[in-house]
Amino acid sequence: MKRILVTGGAGFLGSHLCDVLLEKGHDVICLDNYFTGRKANIAHLLDHPRFEAMRHDVIDPFKLEVDWIFNLACPASPVHYQHNPIKTIKTSVMGAIHCLGLAKRTGARVFQASTSEVYGDPAVHPQPESYWGNVNPIGIRSCYDEGKRCAETLFFDYHRQNHLDIRVVRIFNTYGPRMMADDGRVVSNFIVQALRGEDLTIYGDGTQTRSFCYVSDLVDGFVRFMDDGSGFPGPLNLGNPGEFTMLELAEKVIAMTGSRSKITHLPLPQDDPKQRRPDIRIAKERLGWEPKVALDEGLENTIRHFQKTEKR
Ligand code: NAD
Ligand code: UDP
Repeated sequence: MKRILVTGGAGFLGSHLCDVLLEKGHDVICLDNYFTGRKANIAHLLDHPRFEAMRHDVIDPFKLEVDWIFNLACPASPVHYQHNPIKTIKTSVMGAIHCLGLAKRTGARVFQASTSEVYGDPAVHPQPESYWGNVNPIGIRSCYDEGKRCAETLFFDYHRQNHLDIRVVRIFNTYGPRMMADDGRVVSNFIVQALRGEDLTIYGDGTQTRSFCYVSDLVDGFVRFMDDGSGFPGPLNLGNPGEFTMLELAEKVIAMTGSRSKITHLPLPQDDPKQRRPDIRIAKERLGWEPKVALDEGLENTIRHFQKTEKR
């Protein structure tokens, strides 16, 4: 069994990852500054004998003895990462440097949660890992996109220069229970608006597309990739290739919640990607991984989660 550090472990994806790693019998240290994470996400783990929570900011160095590192610390929703863009890019770059330094000292295998945002507003569709992307370096999304691109560069330079055992994953839009009601991402926004009987806010005309992966599928991909002993460093796309327009998503959520909400249109934010769908052939070939949870099933679970939290 491994001693595992999960940075950003109190967040949406990190807390699900901590659950799965503990179920598999590992020791887990969750490091988080609670910027967008919540203690409530890990409250059920605090008494677990193999779980430890540590309040810390990845911008500052940390010294631990571990076998594996998952680096997830970074705000992920545009609303949150644009709140303090300088802090966002520091988190990506300094967080990566500190995780890589720790991996260099301990010999740990180190995982980076990168993103489909490295493809920017993609001119190639669907996006394979070989695509270099179409990213604005000076726009309002750049703190996140370029921060994550720089983190990928650091991971591959440490891999080449110091022979670090790295795993870089490019995550496509993922949703599920424990998303925050007010974090601005489209799935949580639409569900919460529908449950509150408010109009669903579509940015632009709603023809832009995204591919939505359910959280359990994604975390399964994370663990398979870390377990893979072939030494393949990535980058590896993980996401669900089902592609939907935001209009389709809004209509689905209204139908599934039985809400009387209507749709309203708001201006499209700057540099909002027009289309996005992962090419997951490498994950299928190397890990035998593909998503199992269809959008309807995943949305049902997520709606149930928000029905509970909205009642409180
Ligand atoms: P989240 O905001 O729920 O989780 C991020 C966690 O990192 C939070 O617990 C937050 O408090 C913590 N954090 C932020 N800055 C920190 C800092 N400086 N020091 C320590 N902790 C810090 O978001 P998420 O959806 O769980 O995303 C997790 C990771 O996956 C992020 O790196 C994100 O970029 C990446 N990702 C997520 C998605 C997605 O669709 N959910 C898509 C692409 C990439
Ligand atoms: N979006 C929307 N209404 C909302 C929130 C988001 O139409 O209330 C759109 C947004 O403009 C984008 C898509 O939904 O085109 C996905 O947005 P999200 O912030 O979830 O993720 P990202 O843009 O980072 O993929």
